[in-house]
Amino acid sequence: NGKPDKARAENYVCIEGIRKEFDGFVAVDDVSLSIRKGEIFALLGASGCGKSTLLRMLAGFERPTAGTIVLDGQKMNDIPPYDQAVNMMFQSYALFPHMTVEQNVAFGPTQKKMPKDEVARRVEEMLALVQMGKFAKRKPHQLSGGQQQRVALARAMATSPKLLLLDEPMGALDKKLRSQMQIELVNIVERLNVTCVMVTHDQEEAMTMAHRIAVMDAGRILQIGTPDEIYEQPNCRFTAEFIGSVNLFEGKVEEDEKDYVTIRTPALDAPIYVGHGITGHEGMSVAFAIRPEKIAISKDEPAQQYNKVRGVIEEIAYFGSHSVYHVRLPGGTKVLCNFVNLKRWASEDFTWNDPVWLSWQDNAGVVLTS
Ligand code: ATP
Repeated sequence: NGKPDKARAENYVCIEGIRKEFDGFVAVDDVSLSIRKGEIFALLGASGCGKSTLLRMLAGFERPTAGTIVLDGQKMNDIPPYDQAVNMMFQSYALFPHMTVEQNVAFGPTQKKMPKDEVARRVEEMLALVQMGKFAKRKPHQLSGGQQQRVALARAMATSPKLLLLDEPMGALDKKLRSQMQIELVNIVERLNVTCVMVTHDQEEAMTMAHRIAVMDAGRILQIGTPDEIYEQPNCRFTAEFIGSVNLFEGKVEEDEKDYVTIRTPALDAPIYVGHGITGHEGMSVAFAIRPEKIAISKDEPAQQYNKVRGVIEEIAYFGSHSVYHVRLPGGTKVLCNFVNLKRWASEDFTWNDPVWLSWQDNAGVVLTS
């Protein structure tokens, strides 16, 4: 009836209670998660959070201190890396410098004792996929960074791995090429329906490439979700601050009703009205988090009754498509507020020292308890 297949595809990679200690130091602390077949899954976190160690355990380079990893129904622990259906693409590409492009791509299939004509067919197919067919006879040093990366991807995919691991895949590319390659890589990986786990410290990269993201800190996973969920519904202060920019107001729950809560914060002189309940209690310490683009700026007082404050524009940072206004409130709090530049000049509507009103809808932010 197809049900077992579906369950298997949902839990294509199953990580359960994985832990890694180095001489008593816990680098990965009891991590459990499932990855779907064909999914691009990002491990995102600051340097030292344990994401590379987790990736290295998936690759089989590192043995877990505890826990299990199951890939497509097969337990991976204790199988040496060269036996596994897993391939890793490194930040530095790690192409063999003395081999041509096609020899690099042929390396894996040849090692796997694939028949010669099949290897040749596979190489051609992979190079066509990454649009590097014309460069088959070149050596890596005769290629640009982006071209080397395409070859590295072709090489990593040449053995049709069940799981492709990407370690900071765009780390060596400049910003413009990076965003182009991000889209290209996603297209290729999706076309081949390869399951992919990538490690990055770059939130933009995780947001643009991954179907789902796991936010990591201090060896633990704080939140798993789609880019949209992670951005719109962060579940803790760390995630809210790590992804994008955010205004965080520390305070206490004043009223906790069925349909709304109000939060009293020293940052603002009026309570914040949030139009959805939390499972908290009155008096509980919380933070109200709101993204700068969720705050409206106006010269005139908005008609709404709640969630409006007065301030003065202190700084304007111009980003072309939008500007970020730094607005100082009478109590000293600084609030970031985005303004989309629909007109020619950012400063056409507002300028420094302008008195303004900031306002937001009652569902524009989230209440964080941790
Ligand atoms: P980065 O982005 O800088 O690579 P990361 O998030 O990938 O960081 P890991 O490389 O996984 O972090 O390291 C997590 C922690 O484990 C770090 O504090 C690191 O110093 C420690 N660590 C990693 N490998 C070893 C090792 N072989 N021996 C001892 N400690 C290690």
